[in-house]
Amino acid sequence: MSRYDLVVVGAGILGLAVAREWLARHDGAHVLVVEAEAGVAAHQTGHNSGVIHSGIYYQPGSLKAKLCVEGSRLMYDFIAENDIAFERCGKLIVALDRDELARLDDLESRGRANQVVGLRRIGAEEIREIEPRAVGLAALHSPETGIVDYAQVARAIHRQLEAAGVEFRFGTRAESVSATSDGCRVHLGDDVVDARRAITCAGLWSDRLAQASGGGADPRIVPFRGGYLQLRPRTEPFVRGMIYPVPDPTLPFLGVHITKHIDSSVSLGPTAMMVPSRDGYTWRKFSARDAWQTGTWPGTWRLARRYWRTGIHELSMASSRKAFVREAARYAPGLTVDDLDGTVHAGIRAQALGRDGALVDDFVLATDGAVTQVRNAPSPAATASLAIAREMVDRVLASG
Ligand SMILES: Cc1cc2nc3c(=O)[nH]c(=O)nc-3n(C[C@H](O)[C@H](O)[C@H](O)COP(=O)(O)OP(=O)(O)OC[C@H]3O[C@@H](n4cnc5c(N)ncnc54)[C@H](O)[C@@H]3O)c2cc1C
Repeated sequence: MSRYDLVVVGAGILGLAVAREWLARHDGAHVLVVEAEAGVAAHQTGHNSGVIHSGIYYQPGSLKAKLCVEGSRLMYDFIAENDIAFERCGKLIVALDRDELARLDDLESRGRANQVVGLRRIGAEEIREIEPRAVGLAALHSPETGIVDYAQVARAIHRQLEAAGVEFRFGTRAESVSATSDGCRVHLGDDVVDARRAITCAGLWSDRLAQASGGGADPRIVPFRGGYLQLRPRTEPFVRGMIYPVPDPTLPFLGVHITKHIDSSVSLGPTAMMVPSRDGYTWRKFSARDAWQTGTWPGTWRLARRYWRTGIHELSMASSRKAFVREAARYAPGLTVDDLDGTVHAGIRAQALGRDGALVDDFVLATDGAVTQVRNAPSPAATASLAIAREMVDRVLASG
């Protein structure tokens, strides 16, 4: 039986970034990455909006704020060094009425406190100059927000890790991680591996792995499906960058936005609907175990009681393209269903939900002895991945 310096569970962008960071600090370390799927970026990392966030939305002082700002800088450096296509196309957050203006003020204060580079408040006329199809009373313009394909980033890190001698076991699910007298033991179905340390970045299954490894049940991961509708290709893309609404400040979702992607396609989305399957990329997919775990969690019902109106609105968008398009047409009035090309795609967010019904807003990283686990890493964790990896490795080393 081999003994590794580090075993990483999950080959999404976080697991890969953690292995990379570990190697940068421990040249020649003996590292194993275990991944349940057949390749890297199979879940959230390969199914997202592809936005490099600048750090506007997040509570000043939170891990999200610190690691998004730092992570976006590291991400731009990494993709430039590795010839990965990206564009700093900028984004607008537009306010449509007086209520939204007040919330835009709050977002502006947060953005300034987080030292978001280049952030500016603009009026109706300048909105039109930056995005001719957008309307609004006022907006925040973030020129540093950009786009990239995070699956490509993951593949680039994977290649570097393989070249550096990191071992990968694909199609292998880690069942649990237990402490030993001098490290830990990772249980892989019929096999076990020993390591000095383990770091788990298991995304949609992070709560299950944590619990099987002796961690608490709280918070539970609930899957929130983010659906996208794609626009017809045009000679002149519908948007130059991205247009976002002012989000509901009590929810960790950013609202349906219009996003240009690095392959020049433009999409509307994502919606945010709780679904019965952690890999429910199509509506037909149903998992009795996932549905049971969400349905029997007290937090689910507390959340539903508070947000039933939002739930109905999300359901209407999921069932009607007209309603979906209408949502984006509030701030881009020329948009109609005729602009859609019929393509639908989706990602599933791993969102931690507390027993008390609170959606956990910040990243949650938990270290216990030789094992460190990511318990909540929703958006902007792809942007922040390289900074989250630094933070985790710092914590692991500080814990001795
Ligand atoms: C719809 C949507 C839009 C988003 N938009 C953005 C955006 O624009 N910008 C941004 O920064 N972020 C965005 N995000 C968030 C971002 O994609 C995620 O935060 C990030 O990808 C998390 O990476 P991860 O490695 O933790 O998770 P994942 O990519 O989900 O990887 C976890 C991996 O662990 C594996 N795994 C799980 N359990 C086990 C086990 N027991 N054994 C072995 N392997 C296991 C899984 O198979 C998976 O491959 C978005 C997310 C979604 C869903």
